[in-house]
Amino acid sequence: MGFFRKMTEEEHPKPAQELVELRAAVQKAQLPEAVAAIAAKELERLDKTDASVAEYTIGINYLDYLISLPWNRFTEDNLDLKRAERILESQHYGLPHVKERILEFLAVHTLCSVQTSQILVVDDEEIARTNLEYILRKEGHQVTTAANGLEALEKVKAQEFDVVLTDLKMEKMDGIQLLESVKQIAPHTEIVMVTGYATVSSAVDALKKGAAHYLSKPIKLDELRATVREIIDKKRHMQMNRGPVLCFAGPPGTGKTSIGQAIAEALERKFVRLSLAGLRDEAELRGHRRTYVGAMPGRIINELKRLEVKNPVFMLDEIDKIGQDFRGDPASVLLEILDPQQNPNFVDHYVDVPFDLSGVMFITTANVVETLPAPLLDRLEVIYFPGYTEQEKIQISQHFLVPRQLREHALAHLGIEFTDTAVAKVIGGYTREAGLRNLEREIAMVCRKLARICVQSKGTCALSVDEELVEKFLGPRKFTHEVAEVGNQVGVTTGLVWTEFGGEIIFVEATRMRGHKQLILTGSLGTVLQESAQTALSYIRSHAEAFGIDPDFFAESDIHIHLPSGAIPKEGPSAGVTIALALLSLLTGRSARRDVALTGELTLSGRILPVSGIREKVLAAQRAGVKVVVFPKKNQVDIVNLEDQVKAGLEIVLADAIEPLVDLVLLPK
Ligand code: ADP
Repeated sequence: MGFFRKMTEEEHPKPAQELVELRAAVQKAQLPEAVAAIAAKELERLDKTDASVAEYTIGINYLDYLISLPWNRFTEDNLDLKRAERILESQHYGLPHVKERILEFLAVHTLCSVQTSQILVVDDEEIARTNLEYILRKEGHQVTTAANGLEALEKVKAQEFDVVLTDLKMEKMDGIQLLESVKQIAPHTEIVMVTGYATVSSAVDALKKGAAHYLSKPIKLDELRATVREIIDKKRHMQMNRGPVLCFAGPPGTGKTSIGQAIAEALERKFVRLSLAGLRDEAELRGHRRTYVGAMPGRIINELKRLEVKNPVFMLDEIDKIGQDFRGDPASVLLEILDPQQNPNFVDHYVDVPFDLSGVMFITTANVVETLPAPLLDRLEVIYFPGYTEQEKIQISQHFLVPRQLREHALAHLGIEFTDTAVAKVIGGYTREAGLRNLEREIAMVCRKLARICVQSKGTCALSVDEELVEKFLGPRKFTHEVAEVGNQVGVTTGLVWTEFGGEIIFVEATRMRGHKQLILTGSLGTVLQESAQTALSYIRSHAEAFGIDPDFFAESDIHIHLPSGAIPKEGPSAGVTIALALLSLLTGRSARRDVALTGELTLSGRILPVSGIREKVLAAQRAGVKVVVFPKKNQVDIVNLEDQVKAGLEIVLADAIEPLVDLVLLPK
């Protein structure tokens, strides 16, 4: 005998009870036909499998998982648009464009859902026709009848039907001929064949030719109702999903997630959020094949299982942050999930049978959409969530963030108030962001300290939080108006850039030393930015005399350009003008104004090309205390479109060439 001995039945009895229970659970789960067939096959296989082998456990787990999926469970939508509007308004300040677009989206959704279904019943036996008409009417469908194929075709030409329910065997034109003609006239109309027992093979033929389903005679009423309902539901979902998928784009903390939650609340659907940031492997979305014990389903299916419904609002967060080293093609997996043609048949590798995702309302979010692959971007409708102005932040704090934090810290009943100047102090002194994340965190910190004082003083604590108290609670300010507090310098200019966190200011430093015509670039500059620097240098060298610079300045020098915060990678063409002016300052010896911030792409001939992210850049300039901002002339429309509040207190200069900027930015010697 070998070292291992096979266990006897008594030692390791097959847990038959387990299978009996599982079989009952499968019965009870009312699985769709195709899934029930797979479950039955799996049960049969398990029956023959030794309970001690790994496949047995894998099989049991698989079946358990299969029956727990929400194949048919969904929540009913609340389609009251007025209510939706109230919910959006009551939870979010401002964002008028965003709200308007969402309400339009919900309106289309509502129209699709309440559209009555049109069914054409074709049968040459009057009694069968009338019966079917009666049953389907009772289900709420609009029913038209036709006594033969030709009459049916006339009706299909005159009106669009969702479903044609036709007998297979009819005089003059049989069901198959009718099917072929209907598919040509109205390709979106689905056809259900009714066949006698003897004609099952023709029914299969009908399926091959594009029929959606067939029912054999005598028709079981439940089956008829369910089949028609399923086809119509699917059509409605397709209709709803045919439009683009919404993509909320903007810096962090601008309300993308909370608007998504509000949509779910308005529709009375469940809400789930899945971050795609750093996702490495297709299997995380689509699951692992069931070949080993640890195989797991993907996260999409797993979330649906957890929620126990097949129609939640599903937020796919940060689709622009899918790991660079993603194995497989992230865009194609996402496209498959978001594509209404493909998502009714989404196959998770673990589940191994198609699961219908067409009921899910997907919403995606991204910080920047410019880097998304084109086919994916094509499928999305991007709604921009802009950064907030200081005034907006104050309003949002007073109406939403402060009351919420007071509530969460059990301080709501004490009538505590924050003065506007206190909130402004938190915004300006302790946060530097386009959105509201840190602001809410800092307000929470103030509330925590207040709570402690309240407890210590037995309920008597300050009723008004002012600037002084903010400073006492939050300590010395973390941020200052950067540009206002540093002096002007030779070779250093202020620039505006647009990053995934919103707009930001940067400083460009240039210096010269004896050397051999080398241009040194540091500060984690991307290729495009490096090229901008080279272009700026070449432009100045070729126009040196016009700027009053010695044309041979580069002959025995090296030039070094540095963008501080070296740990943060920087890329994009919009720093060209800022670099050029840093060089001009260096080479003319005139110091550059720090409170003038520049942005613009520079061409070799000295023209300034337009850039993006205008609003975010203006907001960043405001936050940093900049006085004058220079934008390319071609961005004039964007500037005109900005609300006054965004531009308030800033002098905006438009330029299409470098020369006029010299005396604006560089101070006299
Ligand atoms: P994002 O998903 O864009 O990173 P969040 O939705 O998480 O941002 O928003 C951060 C916080 O700011 C949340 O508490 C949210 O409720 C709040 N918030 C954002 N925008 C608004 C707004 N317009 N009105 C009220 N609260 C807002």
